[in-house]
Amino acid sequence: MDQFDVDLFVIGGGSGGVRAARIAAGHGAKVMLAEEYRLGGTCVIRGCVPKKLFVYAARFAHEFEDAAGFGWSVEGARFDWPTLIANKDKEIARLEGAYTANLARSGVEIVHQRASLAGPHTVRLADGTELRARTILIATGGRPNRGLDFPGCELGISSNEIFHLERFPARIVIQGAGYIALEFASLLAGLGAKVTVIHRGDKLLRGFDGDIRDRIVDEMAQTGVEFAFNVTIEGIYAEGGEKRVRLNDGRDLYADEVMLAIGRVPNTIGLGLDAAEVHLDEAGAIAVDEHSRTNIPSIYAVGDVTNRVNLTPVAIREGHAFADTVFGQRPWQVTYDNIPTAVFTEPEIGTVGLTEEEARAQGRRLDIYKTDFRPLKATLSGRTSRVFMKIVVDQADDRVLGLHLIGEGSGEIVQMAAIAMNIGATKADFDRTMALHPSSAEELVTLR
Ligand code: FAD
Ligand code: NDP
Repeated sequence: MDQFDVDLFVIGGGSGGVRAARIAAGHGAKVMLAEEYRLGGTCVIRGCVPKKLFVYAARFAHEFEDAAGFGWSVEGARFDWPTLIANKDKEIARLEGAYTANLARSGVEIVHQRASLAGPHTVRLADGTELRARTILIATGGRPNRGLDFPGCELGISSNEIFHLERFPARIVIQGAGYIALEFASLLAGLGAKVTVIHRGDKLLRGFDGDIRDRIVDEMAQTGVEFAFNVTIEGIYAEGGEKRVRLNDGRDLYADEVMLAIGRVPNTIGLGLDAAEVHLDEAGAIAVDEHSRTNIPSIYAVGDVTNRVNLTPVAIREGHAFADTVFGQRPWQVTYDNIPTAVFTEPEIGTVGLTEEEARAQGRRLDIYKTDFRPLKATLSGRTSRVFMKIVVDQADDRVLGLHLIGEGSGEIVQMAAIAMNIGATKADFDRTMALHPSSAEELVTLR
């Protein structure tokens, strides 16, 4: 220990870094963690948590509309953006405080500064201090991709800024067709904005099951979101308090804000990776092995900076596995099968396991079960949206390989279904499970 100031230095206080620091400290390691912005990282400060709070806010609008069919009159309901922002900020500050307190209670020393590598065992802080660490963990996450180059692209905002807009964007153009673009399209439309999604391709949500990609467009369109496919933005021009968005098909759209949601890139710039000779992969992410170790034995990396599966629970588990492996004499690896995920659009998407396309590409023979139906609630609310469910089954052994859902509660459903899939559930296991009636999820055990 003599030659080192700490056993572990963690760069980045987000989902992965915080978990790793706390677990390592629990194993008796002397741990220091540097965070340049706010403890909690993307998920807590400007990602999952504030986003989901906004999603809840937006869903009231649908509930108010649906209520009439059930005998309610909800006249005079009004939405106030500054109230939502202020209450959200209060909750995020509370969470940040809880993260700080929990880290301190675990014995982790927190440094509120930017940090970078100065060698395989050396970290340099922004104030010039250098510290020697037996092990260094890079958990610096990612940031919005701003890699577009057209006139006025700096006028576009990213998900970072949208959480702090002073004025509600009554008209917004969103470029991109991934998680962030579609979640914000839905929630802003729910809150009353006129939303236009601009996508360079002809299908949303690359990587999702084809049926989900085909159906979500119509479902979102029913909630008022407009789409323009096979187009890109050529320029954004500030004109008298509004923004003119020039598309490459010659059209102009007018909006209060333009959001660029074209993916995220790993936070590796200025990290001193060259000084420590840490290798990147082709996509510019830090290359690691199955124990999150880089090519330099004393340096590890977890979470979005490694661009494996960019979700909070994955970053947390990678941080935990790293700490147990390196400091707890309990080596284990994260498994990346059957990771459930939701896209919090309106209606919501839930998915776990292989898409039909992925399963076929593996050369498997499949049984595909699908249903779409009008949910019971819609019979009185009058809402036209339909629930869609798809089960992908391996003909060879009847195992359920994938579940893909659109409809209320889809995320909650796939979280539980993922447990069954992890213990090898077959379609026959689904079939012999008693239905819970009346529910939407019961369709999963009655699909023939
Ligand atoms: P981060 O949480 O990004 O933490 C990295 C931290 O490192 C940051 O706090 C940063 O300030 C700090 N840092 C960076 N460089 C330095 C440096 N040199 N020195 C000191 N500190 C530094 N995932 C889900 O599972 N569900 C969701 O619903 C969901 N919604 C999302 C919504 C949005 C809008 C976004 C942007 C992301 C969302 N995600 C969601 C993804 C999720 O937020 C990330 O996968 C997760 O936060 C990754 O954790 P991490 O620890 O790798 O990095
Ligand atoms: P995604 O990778 O999901 O989507 C990026 C979108 O931008 C795609 O539609 C892509 O189009 C498009 N795009 C990429 N480059 C360009 C370009 N140069 N010009 C025009 N369009 C472009 O990224 P997001 O930013 O939406 O989200 C990042 C990650 O954060 C997600 O993948 C997910 O891991 C995580 N996340 C998770 C959430 C959740 O769990 N609910 C919510 C939010 C984020 P194309 O399809 O043609 O490639």
